[in-house]
Amino acid sequence: MSDKKFDLIIVGGGPGGYVAAIRAAQLDMKVLLIDDRQGDDGKAAPGGTCLNVGCVPSKALLDSSKHYHHIQHDYAAHGISVDGVSMDVGTMIDRKRKVVKQLNGGLLQLFKANKIEFANGWGKLLSDRSVEVTPCEGDSYTVAGQHVILAAGSVPFTIPNVEIDGTHIVDNVGALEFGEAPERLGVIGAGVIGLEMGSVWKRLGSEVILFEAMDELLPVVDKDMSRAAAREFKKQGLDIRLGAKVAGADLVDGKVKVTYTKDGNESSETFDRLLVAVGRRAASEGLLGEESGVKLTDRGQIEVDAHCRTSAENVWAIGDLVRGPMLAHKASEEGVAVVETIAGQHGHINLDHVPWVIYTDPEIAWVGKTEKDLAEAGVEYKTGSFPFAATGRGLAMGDAAGHVKIIADAESDRILGAQIIGPTASEMIAEIVVTMEFAGASEDLGRIIHAHPTLSEAIHEAALSVDKRAIHKAN
Ligand code: FAD
Ligand code: NAD
Repeated sequence: MSDKKFDLIIVGGGPGGYVAAIRAAQLDMKVLLIDDRQGDDGKAAPGGTCLNVGCVPSKALLDSSKHYHHIQHDYAAHGISVDGVSMDVGTMIDRKRKVVKQLNGGLLQLFKANKIEFANGWGKLLSDRSVEVTPCEGDSYTVAGQHVILAAGSVPFTIPNVEIDGTHIVDNVGALEFGEAPERLGVIGAGVIGLEMGSVWKRLGSEVILFEAMDELLPVVDKDMSRAAAREFKKQGLDIRLGAKVAGADLVDGKVKVTYTKDGNESSETFDRLLVAVGRRAASEGLLGEESGVKLTDRGQIEVDAHCRTSAENVWAIGDLVRGPMLAHKASEEGVAVVETIAGQHGHINLDHVPWVIYTDPEIAWVGKTEKDLAEAGVEYKTGSFPFAATGRGLAMGDAAGHVKIIADAESDRILGAQIIGPTASEMIAEIVVTMEFAGASEDLGRIIHAHPTLSEAIHEAALSVDKRAIHKAN
């Protein structure tokens, strides 16, 4: 029997769930948000994977380690000499924890301000939109909602013969908590987490080897981009072994021995720590009662339609739990779209224009179709590109690696995609996303005034270069 009734119950308080809760409260819904996560202090820690063990803490460490790297390697060219530079990893980790904690507290205040009821515990969907809540402290109870949004996120994949012990062999959680830079760090998977966390610890002095099963680095972007990225990573000393399939990892005398095959030969390497970053899967385990009526895909994701409706009436699912990219901003936008649809508005999400960013140095960002996608689909296209090394701002900053590439439809000139490798790519990609959402053409971008000297001039010039009229390079 259900004791308490809500307009909307949301299971999972990550960027999908908590954003949906706030938008629903703005639309006058009575909302219950359930999230099981707790901090080291045993207090509720809303914000999901993203805030607690994902986007935010990883970027805090990427920033700290970037400062350290710049002081050591890049300041001399500016005439700045700094003696006795040292890194206190403990202070860096504490700073990261403070950033996370501050944002956990900010969210709890936002819930209060929006009159969102928050339960720190586990939610399980039963039948007819009733949800069993098992609080972190106290007895279970049942609540009922007019609508339920499932936003339970994702958990890391594991691989056979490699057991995460949280100390020597870690996933993303452990890689954010090392007490010191390991002398040798092994990473399984040269995907987004592997490259970001590998960069952090490399900058802090670790020797880092990444084992990637595929023969190609970052196949999600075009070859010119992945080659440029590989060149930069090599310069930084990241040892990326492509086509390397890990057979297992064993703890031997406090070290981790990784056995792998490459080109048909078996080899091994020994590390102080090993990070396993081989992708993530939907956190659907324990979320659904037998009578929930919600169908799963064969990959364990919640099956949804284009509007995030599940197979059970008025039950919705969003974020990492469903198809599409596993990104925080995608989860949030789905949350808003679902709530607005529930409220009778026209909730909208365009999965074709979700920007991606890898926060390495240089950053790598992309949106829309790649050349590869278009060639496969038989779409005629043209491209324009521009290197940061030809921008006054990039050179003045001493940060001019990489380039911008814009891909436009051959006939209509409409922008179909863009890829950027370079400084502040994470910020610059937004201009392209806006242009694409407004169905803009490369001609539009080429005719928009960009301030001088800025890095965004590379976007302007790349757009002009689609029509072979870039000014600061030979076309
Ligand atoms: P989550 O953030 O996973 O939140 C789900 C929450 O629900 C969790 O707190 C979970 O504990 C809770 N929960 C699960 N089941 C239940 C249940 N039954 N009852 C109650 N609570 C439950 N994305 C980006 O866009 N940018 C980045 O820079 C970025 N960096 C990342 C770095 C790392 C190391 C990792 C691991 C991920 C990163 N991501 C990044 C991905 C991003 O974290 C996810 O895409 C995003 O968090 C998904 O949001 P969500 O709301 O769907 O789920
Ligand atoms: P990923 O999918 O990005 O990369 C995993 C890599 O591991 C792949 O290249 C895959 O080929 C490789 N791999 C798989 N099995 C392997 C094996 N047995 N041996 C060697 N290599 C193997 O996954 P991830 O890095 O774990 O990150 C998970 C997800 O989290 C990302 O896909 C992304 O959605 C999200 N994320 C986003 C950001 C960001 O937006 N900046 C940062 C981190 C994570």
